[in-house]
Amino acid sequence: MLKALDLELTHDALATSTLSHGLKVFGDRWTVQVMLSVFLGIRRFDELQSHSGIPRPTLSNRLRALVQIGVLKPRLYQERPPRHEYHLTRKGTGLYDATLMVWLWEQRWGSRAVALPQKLHHKTCQHDFSPELTCQACGDKVGMNDLSFSLSPNARLRHEPLEGMSPPRMSTRESAEMSLGLRVDRWSLLVLTAVVLGCHYFDQISKVLGIGPNVLSRRLSGMVEVGLLRCATDAHDARRRLYRLTPSSRDLFGYIVCLSTWAGESHLHEPSSIRPRHLACQHSFMPRVACDHCHQTLFPWDVSFTSSKAKNT
Ligand SMILES: [Zn+2]
Ligand SMILES: [Zn+2]
Repeated sequence: MLKALDLELTHDALATSTLSHGLKVFGDRWTVQVMLSVFLGIRRFDELQSHSGIPRPTLSNRLRALVQIGVLKPRLYQERPPRHEYHLTRKGTGLYDATLMVWLWEQRWGSRAVALPQKLHHKTCQHDFSPELTCQACGDKVGMNDLSFSLSPNARLRHEPLEGMSPPRMSTRESAEMSLGLRVDRWSLLVLTAVVLGCHYFDQISKVLGIGPNVLSRRLSGMVEVGLLRCATDAHDARRRLYRLTPSSRDLFGYIVCLSTWAGESHLHEPSSIRPRHLACQHSFMPRVACDHCHQTLFPWDVSFTSSKAKNT
């Protein structure tokens, strides 16, 4: 999608992207799980624990981190012993667009072992709806192919090298659950973004993400296995393998773009080095998640839902 693929530039842009920084905060499945639950109105430690099945020490650790970055704010609801509810701050509420995109993806492709809303209802227009990604400037519905990308590495976000983005170490139990639940983590999202930016070959992906061949090879075959990538042999060179997006990874684009916009605007206060433009209206693309029935912007307080039972219990 770039005019000519410049691997060095792509590497710098990915390393300084608001996405990669945003994923440092929201790239692990437990954190995403906590946020999804809080948006469903689950606020107390024990309820969060039983809803998400997160081990208690992990949950208190994630809650502490979310309070620290200012997306949740604890409120005492019982004095003795002290018990807290976790409420969304304004900054946290800004993650609603990204959350709606996760719900949508999970409805279509997910196998999350946690109850998520089956039906969303928009109180404003009184209709059940599906969230859709639209362009803030012109209001049109937008998919990945409606955008072009320009790269402009942001030196202020350069302090941490991309190589430092090692995935958090997982216990055996966590990795086992990973294969049942959420199949998408920080590394997969960065690999997908590299592919969106035009890196289709193994060596290209390895170079722009700074991942060594052994680790990358495991990652890519894992992603092919769960249907996030398609792998083919290059028609011109049988030794080279080509990686392409699938319908399910294309559907993750909404989440990627909403999370990276939130990270730039509300968390880092810096523009992203990956800049999408809406081809139809020629404006810089800013996402807005809207109701597919009335096309109004969605806010958590205007949406009600019916929750399903967990699929995997
Ligand atoms: Zn537009
Ligand atoms: Zn509506």
